[in-house]
Amino acid sequence: MKVKLTGYTPDPEKHIASAARVCYLSEAKTPDADEKLIAHLINMGHESVLEHSCATFDVSGVSRALTHQLVRHRIASFSQQSQRYVDELGFEYVTPPSLEGEAREVFMEAMEGAREKYERLRNLGVPKEDARFVLPNACETRITVTMNFRELRHFIKLRSHKSAQWEIRELAQKMLDRLIVIAPKVFEDLRV
Ligand SMILES: Cc1cc2nc3c(=O)[nH]c(=O)nc-3n(C[C@H](O)[C@H](O)[C@H](O)COP(=O)(O)OP(=O)(O)OC[C@H]3O[C@@H](n4cnc5c(N)ncnc54)[C@H](O)[C@@H]3O)c2cc1C
Repeated sequence: MKVKLTGYTPDPEKHIASAARVCYLSEAKTPDADEKLIAHLINMGHESVLEHSCATFDVSGVSRALTHQLVRHRIASFSQQSQRYVDELGFEYVTPPSLEGEAREVFMEAMEGAREKYERLRNLGVPKEDARFVLPNACETRITVTMNFRELRHFIKLRSHKSAQWEIRELAQKMLDRLIVIAPKVFEDLRV
């Protein structure tokens, strides 16, 4: 899995603090005033001000099973590699770590089978948009996602939790690692 932070609001914490100060008609009087304000806002649940800053991630080498879960988050924008327009001949796939020994062999057979059937359908003239019906959830994909900081906090809380599925947990952790670098005061309390 590759998770690249490709863009974000410049000086995102200052941007949030400036917006919040409009509510109170206040000014930053000390160097750490913005940091303290952000901590206070999160603490009292005044999270709408976090919506003023956003981040964009380019996520690749993940399964379609992961992206199906990711796109359920509605306060976000997505652009995903299309199986209608991009040929999936010889597609790559994600192998769940729980598959060992015979289970792994069964899984690999299924992947090889899907590759072979997809290729046969394509050779028979079936368009990509229909041949893709034989592709598995394990199929690798790439997606660009933009979320504002409030939604990112929500996403990370839900998807880092131990009840979430292993692959999306890894994604949430990687996104959090990158966000803590650019906006520690907004995200560091989510580190488990
Ligand atoms: C562990 C786990 C298991 C899951 N299992 C399943 C499953 O078995 N089947 C399944 O279908 N889904 C499942 N989901 C997905 C889940 O139901 C949500 O669709 C997904 O997590 C998106 O989160 P969300 O709805 O909180 O928020 P988002 O879509 O990320 O929106 C953020 C917040 O905005 C608000 N909001 C957004 N849209 C509305 C709206 N229309 N009305 C009111 N408020 C809104 C809510 O406060 C929401 O929490 C699972 C999720 C998790 C984390």
